[in-house]
Amino acid sequence: MANWGALHAALNKIIDPETGKGLLDSGKIKNLDVDAAGKTTLVIEVSAETGAGFEPIRQTAETAAAAVTGSAQAILTAESAPAVSEKKPAPKPESIEKPKARLPGVKHIIAVASGKGGVGKSTLALNLALLLQEQGLKVGFLDADIYGPSVPRLVGLEGRRPVGDAQNRPIPLGAHGLQVLSIGFMLKDPKTAMIWRGPMIGQALTQLLQGAAWGPSETDPRPLDLLLLDMPPGTGDIHLTLAQKVALTGGLIVSTPQDLALLDARKAMTFFDKLGVPILGLIENMSSFICDQCGASHDIFGKGGVGQEAADMGLPFLGAVPLTMALRLASDGGTPLPISAPSDPALVGLRAIAQKLSSTISNDL
Ligand code: ADP
Repeated sequence: MANWGALHAALNKIIDPETGKGLLDSGKIKNLDVDAAGKTTLVIEVSAETGAGFEPIRQTAETAAAAVTGSAQAILTAESAPAVSEKKPAPKPESIEKPKARLPGVKHIIAVASGKGGVGKSTLALNLALLLQEQGLKVGFLDADIYGPSVPRLVGLEGRRPVGDAQNRPIPLGAHGLQVLSIGFMLKDPKTAMIWRGPMIGQALTQLLQGAAWGPSETDPRPLDLLLLDMPPGTGDIHLTLAQKVALTGGLIVSTPQDLALLDARKAMTFFDKLGVPILGLIENMSSFICDQCGASHDIFGKGGVGQEAADMGLPFLGAVPLTMALRLASDGGTPLPISAPSDPALVGLRAIAQKLSSTISNDL
């Protein structure tokens, strides 16, 4: 049991220079949580003007909380800028400088995006990560889908929390050989993410991307060959934040064959294009339904729409994945498909896509 009284007292001993009150009483702590292993997570929210000037207080709060509960992670976030400046038009992707920095411990980062939610982006991304690992790559997976962080469920790690290393960087959890982190691991109630302000989300994600111990671990000193980033659906501030932080090797777009989904997917393609991130290819999901009883294939949403779109746009089409009962059950049951149903027909399409992807990046490994 966490000693909440001692934790509150320790945090209140730190004086907020702006209000003169204890940090807890100042109202700047927006989220305070202690998990079963005694790790405290707290989110300190300050004004846009104060911003990074609060960093020393963040560090003090982290140390103070760790002294009470054993370990702690404090995240500093800034509120949106005041209303007047909010009216300023969002920066155009064209004007944004492409980051040169590579993430330490990671050779390649590929962002998996979709125009809209529910097209199977996370499901496909996770299975691809496992199949790329099957081909000998060391792979990490960052679930940045703040609207529905599904990775904890997909890999059966709901309710788990990453622990910190000696520098207090979150250590990715191990899931079937993959290194995984999810915004869902950082929240007591994953639904909370939806009501976080944009900058808070951006900061939390940046911490998971750049502030985490990706790659070399105590048992395996190799860097990650590949980190897959499961992006939130659509395009927005979060995408910009992530794409600006680190150099992306490329982007993948998942879509169903329907016209409407394709329309949204086109927006995601334009977005990557403007950011100067190469699109490695398009993937069609739910291209047909394969009946698990009789094996017959039905093109419920039409078929071939994504391949046609790729051809029209002059982009690579990486392949199609059918809708199968086993894939749905595997995703929702927490045991990924290559383990739960290794002969499922969806794996044929997924393996072919993984093969193409690994040969795309292998020259540079
Ligand atoms: P997104 O990340 O695009 O929001 P998800 O990966 O969460 O979508 O998938 C939405 C739902 O569809 C999940 O229940 C998932 O199990 C299911 N699903 C996705 N792709 C397939 C597929 N090819 N066959 C069967 N079910 C699928």
